[in-house]
Amino acid sequence: MTSAGIDIRGVTQRFGSFVALDDVSLQIGQGEFAVLLGPSGSGKTTLLSIVGGFLVPQAGNVSIGGEDMTLVPPAKRPTTTVFQDYALFPHMTILANVGFGLRMRGVGRRERDRKAEEMLSLVGLGGQGRKKPHELSGGQRQRVALARSLAVDPAVLLLDEPLGALDMKLRRQMQEELKRIQREVGTTFVHVTHDQEEAMAIADRIVVMNGGRIEDDGPPERVYLRPRSRFSADFMGLSCFLAGTIAHIEAGRARVLTAAGDILVEEAGSWRPGDRVTLSIRPEHFHTEPGEDGRQSLGQAVVESVSFLGTHHQAKVRHTEDDGFRATVLLPQTGEPRPGDRIGLWVRPDTPVILGR
Ligand code: ATP
Repeated sequence: MTSAGIDIRGVTQRFGSFVALDDVSLQIGQGEFAVLLGPSGSGKTTLLSIVGGFLVPQAGNVSIGGEDMTLVPPAKRPTTTVFQDYALFPHMTILANVGFGLRMRGVGRRERDRKAEEMLSLVGLGGQGRKKPHELSGGQRQRVALARSLAVDPAVLLLDEPLGALDMKLRRQMQEELKRIQREVGTTFVHVTHDQEEAMAIADRIVVMNGGRIEDDGPPERVYLRPRSRFSADFMGLSCFLAGTIAHIEAGRARVLTAAGDILVEEAGSWRPGDRVTLSIRPEHFHTEPGEDGRQSLGQAVVESVSFLGTHHQAKVRHTEDDGFRATVLLPQTGEPRPGDRIGLWVRPDTPVILGR
């Protein structure tokens, strides 16, 4: 089967009086690697379950490949799901596990084994088909679960925290593998995680969820660099949030009054003079020296703590104004900032993002 797009319209899911999904609409393109990202309880798994057919929402529709699937049971949908706990059959060989879905569909032994062997090669486990699940590591078992889900050629693969049980190094390795496999097979992937680094590493598209709603939705670079809400900025990484008021707008640029002086910001968006806003500034967008690139001084800050990250030092600083704002700042690997040091802060006009309060 070829891959298919997904069209979710006005989906609401309640559990008793609790609203787990609140009028959610989302379109995912054919062959896209979409990641649903959000904190625990934000509704990611609920949305995935609705696409997979394990839940029928109280309101709204789900179409896959242009066909309405809202009331179609899971087994009749062109979707398969990979869960965190693998759910392999312990008494069956790896080959039989991978071929299981095909067997259920009446595919003969020879074709089943051929396809299962092909899928095992795809996930890097070629020639391991005679083993039993207990003979494999956790990472290898997760690969088997992936191969099993892909063996039936789904148009959409749903992945619910599939890497959650793996240690950090294996997790990073499997993220690269997942991305490679998705490119190779071209199937639409919808992957749930609460790990923002994982989302950035694998996604074509990140959908940020919060409290049963979509907060932000776009390619990783856009969502990280130009988040559309304070929640999204905060969830996608570290940010300094600086309260301000729009003083002036000219040629699409905004002058924002803050406790650290007025700051020119390149993208004014639809903000208007007088609006009370928040500036979001990422740690790597602070400079500690003046420069010829239009950077503007925010005054001085005192270093409160420093951690060494290998490629950089990460310093937590406090602005010297009364009641000064706090920021996390990336400093070069060389030089040894110490708590109590004073540093200057500069920022270019093109990096702060103007968000609502
Ligand atoms: P996690 O990362 O912890 O899995 P999530 O974002 O996937 O979180 P969901 O599992 O979709 O969140 O759950 C959203 C909310 O709906 C949670 O508050 C959860 O307690 C509630 N919920 C989910 N399923 C049910 C259910 N069957 N009955 C009652 N409440 C439920």
